Amino acid sequence: MNKEKILVTSALPYANGPIHLGHLSGAYLPADIYVRYKRLKGADIVYICGSDEHGVPITISADKEGVKPQVIIDRYHNINKKAFERFGMSFDNYSRTSLPIHHETARDFFLEFYNRGLLVEKKSNQFYDEKVKMFLPDRYVEGTCPKCSYEEARSDECENCGSLYDPSELKNPKSKITGETPSLRETSHYYFPLGKYQPALEKYVEEMNKKYGWKDNVLQYCRGWFNEGLKDRAITRDMDWGIKVPVDCAAGKVIYVWFEAVLGYISSTKELSQIKKEPDLWKKYWLDPKTKYIAFIGKDNIVFHTIVFPAILIAWNEESKEQYCLPQNVPANEFLNFEGKKFSKSRNWGIDVDEFLDIFPADPLRYTLAANLPENRDTDFYWKEFQARNNSELADILGNFINRTFTFVFKHFNGEVPPKDKLFDLDREMLKTISEYPEKVSHLFEQYKIKDGTNELMNLARAGNKYFNDSEPWVTVKNDKKKCGTTLNICLQTIYTLAELFEPIIPFTTKKLFKMLNAQSTAWDKCSEENLPAGHKLNQSEILFPKIEDEMIDKQISKLGGEETKSPKSNLISYDDFLKTELKVAEIIEAEKIKKSKKLLKLKVKIDNETRQVVAGIALSYEPENLIGKKVVLVANLQPAKLMGEESNGMILAVEKDDGKLEVVSVDSKVSNGTRVK
Ligand SMILES: [Zn+2]
Repeated sequence: MNKEKILVTSALPYANGPIHLGHLSGAYLPADIYVRYKRLKGADIVYICGSDEHGVPITISADKEGVKPQVIIDRYHNINKKAFERFGMSFDNYSRTSLPIHHETARDFFLEFYNRGLLVEKKSNQFYDEKVKMFLPDRYVEGTCPKCSYEEARSDECENCGSLYDPSELKNPKSKITGETPSLRETSHYYFPLGKYQPALEKYVEEMNKKYGWKDNVLQYCRGWFNEGLKDRAITRDMDWGIKVPVDCAAGKVIYVWFEAVLGYISSTKELSQIKKEPDLWKKYWLDPKTKYIAFIGKDNIVFHTIVFPAILIAWNEESKEQYCLPQNVPANEFLNFEGKKFSKSRNWGIDVDEFLDIFPADPLRYTLAANLPENRDTDFYWKEFQARNNSELADILGNFINRTFTFVFKHFNGEVPPKDKLFDLDREMLKTISEYPEKVSHLFEQYKIKDGTNELMNLARAGNKYFNDSEPWVTVKNDKKKCGTTLNICLQTIYTLAELFEPIIPFTTKKLFKMLNAQSTAWDKCSEENLPAGHKLNQSEILFPKIEDEMIDKQISKLGGEETKSPKSNLISYDDFLKTELKVAEIIEAEKIKKSKKLLKLKVKIDNETRQVVAGIALSYEPENLIGKKVVLVANLQPAKLMGEESNGMILAVEKDDGKLEVVSVDSKVSNGTRVK
């Protein structure tokens, strides 16, 4: 009866591109670990997600490719759903906001508010592109943020500093369709009175923080918003793609995506009810004030989950019999960067989840990301760290402990769990260590300290190895086999505990491990008890964590920053844009191979009076000595990057020939160094 009832949601990924590792570290992996942990704790839990499929970026992509928005969302919904499955995300339902069930839910909320007279119709000025004769939704306009001067801000929202402002405040607005300066024209929209709910929201945030301890980054965001004062927000837009506004006089308008996307959690749970043929299942979670609702998100989504969504639910609850539960905690993560920079598709910086899992298994990635989650500050994914986490921790610590124990038990104890005999201090200490672990890790996971919990768990494997070493079973097997048996018995118990406690983090591996142990998992709190009786027969072991060779990692590193594989159709740039790239003639004066890399050469080049080091991926096409004296074309104002530990200041242009060899673009030797190419 006392089961905790928990509702967990992860931010709905936007169906306009493939998810990358940064997304996983933000809203998905920590949530999945938490959910898996809670299931082992015996909680009554439901885990909800789905694709966010409306909004302007999707229509921009569709316009660019000359297809219908449906094509874009079908593509990325399927790609992302599959990538999540391969990564081991254990959603109970992964829905889509384009489904009728979501349109219905969103319209219900809109109409409820409309009928109560809560929504205010207001005329406002919106950017209008005279050339194509249409109102420009926010993302079709780009300009300079009035608050932080970020140059790629949208018409009413800045991604860089998170400010919301009136379109008239945006500096240097440009239409993304025509590049023209748009005019402001009057249109009318329905507004949700966010300001009216500020007192209730402030009370909600402070209460939840007091009871459940919200993260500092989340609180600071909220307080910043409250200090600025919440303003009423338009919840309709002039466009075709989306949920039609269910009011007669609103032809040509859809519900703004920020209002409806968060309701996607509710409709996804409703869909789950249909799938399971339990029509009231969703109510059991959403309409019970005792539900512990945890919303996992990345920091870019804080305002929607601590202010917008709670405001919608508070407004609904004010005059309805149905009382929705609000997020009890919103453990937002900071961002994960990639090798020191932001992920960027256009700069070919980063890797998609799907692509990653074609090359490496999911568990080493889950472990690497979990051990370095951006819980309190931005962190980075480095290929070398990934390799080290796999080879030096998963393989050399955890894998080694399991492997040496199994090998020993099969060699000397016929593959059966030996009985425990007399206990010595060393044994008692190890048993005590194991017994403390479920609670120790629980304590961290309950506070969403997934990173600390993960690292703490590896310490148990370390303790196991140390116990094995200190007990010297290779000695006792010869002179005190009973004592040796005790050691191995305790090692196997430790492995059982590790199998269970690591399940949320590396579920594919622990499944294999339980098979090796010939056992099932038990309740989280019981996993350090004696779960493997003496005489229990084990199955043969297998290598759980194959090592990752340098070559595989180098190959990934050398791919970074290269040309994008799929270039968008007809993506014209202006002459000014072209001139932003400083192409200069450079003379190669030194060239040498980089150790451990097949592809990379380290070059010294001369431009004007300056000598620079450049790392180029042309080692398979050129012997270093044949490059000396060549005058090549260098991208001179590229951000410096480190490749295989070598700094690279620029990029040399090359073409790939039919046979896959590269040929550097070169100019006549009479052209002076430093000459601008244009
Ligand atoms: Zn800004």
